[in-house]
Amino acid sequence: MRLYIAGGCSEHGRNSFLLTGEKVRILVDAGRMKEKPDEPFPLLDEETIAGIDYLFLTHSHTDHTGAISFLAERGFHGRIVASRATLEHIGPLPVASYALEDIGEVMKELHPDPRFSVLYGRAGHCIGSVWYEFRLDGRAVLFTGDYEEQSLAYRCDAIRERAADVAVIDCAYGTEREDAAEHFEALRKLLDSLVEKGAPMLFPVPSHGRGFDLVRLLAERGVTVVLAASLVEEFRNSLDRAFWLREEFQDAVMNLKNRDIGHFEEAYRAALALGLSFPDEYRHDAILVRDSQLVKNENRQIALGVASVGGCTILTGKQDPASYARALLNCGDAVFCRISVHQNIKEMLRLKERNHFRITVPYHCRELLAFDEPDIRVLAPGDALHF
Ligand SMILES: [Zn+2]
Ligand SMILES: [Zn+2]
Repeated sequence: MRLYIAGGCSEHGRNSFLLTGEKVRILVDAGRMKEKPDEPFPLLDEETIAGIDYLFLTHSHTDHTGAISFLAERGFHGRIVASRATLEHIGPLPVASYALEDIGEVMKELHPDPRFSVLYGRAGHCIGSVWYEFRLDGRAVLFTGDYEEQSLAYRCDAIRERAADVAVIDCAYGTEREDAAEHFEALRKLLDSLVEKGAPMLFPVPSHGRGFDLVRLLAERGVTVVLAASLVEEFRNSLDRAFWLREEFQDAVMNLKNRDIGHFEEAYRAALALGLSFPDEYRHDAILVRDSQLVKNENRQIALGVASVGGCTILTGKQDPASYARALLNCGDAVFCRISVHQNIKEMLRLKERNHFRITVPYHCRELLAFDEPDIRVLAPGDALHF
């Protein structure tokens, strides 16, 4: 058996791992890397691509799915397998696709093909995100995908007591010191102090991810939330909501005090026309916009307005170096308080201890990692592991 790293180890993006057994070839994820525009796609040649039988997707984010057309244009004609929600988020596909839920239940060994079995669990990273354990040719290989056990919104089937010859584990946060629980602790304190102060808050969030964790924290504090229409839609239209979202999150959303973003924008324009910098009636609210880097001019204006009345923009994820979000942080008009959607080294090692992995391969981290443990293998794109 061979595991080939087509991308995603010792780099951030184009996650793609090829498992070659005696009779079947399975690719896990096919991502596109934003950071390297000259080489954004997985390292796979046409002959290899044409021989792939299955592409299993862990979730819909483009660093895991952005190379599907690249594969199709180079002769990929295998089958795509992913959760129903992931397939729905990606949209139309160039080849036949199958929903995991139609193959079988979560956390059960499934046999979609006589050549291998697969087990999937929810990964706690976003709606539709899963981890996989494959068994073929007498070997077991586990892929965590993007993995977060502590999410306040998404359900996770924690990986425990699994035995695998190789485990490819999320380690995106690398040497960052704080783990998910510590980040949430810091965020809770920050929110409590802002709520006490009674100043407006702006949260720029991405699609499908951290926004839901925030909604729960704000709802639990009784804060009125002005929610981007697309986030409301995302919640209302989420496929199999109860399956992907934690019960505590659903309860919190039931009690959420929510104001229409259209009305807020009108009030904001009216305030500006009167020479004010922010509408008075929204001074105690939290505004969530789906624009994590603050690309849109109207959201930049809101950030300035929030700052002008003593409020704060709170960034909860990575900022692109040239983004407005980063500029705001640098000038002190925004604060950074992470919501974890990945693991750091500490969490990766904890996961390793709780399972029985013969070889552990960290992925999703652009740092050059080094470990004393001989069973942790730091690999790079183009490397292969025979086992
Ligand atoms: Zn992701
Ligand atoms: Zn990712």
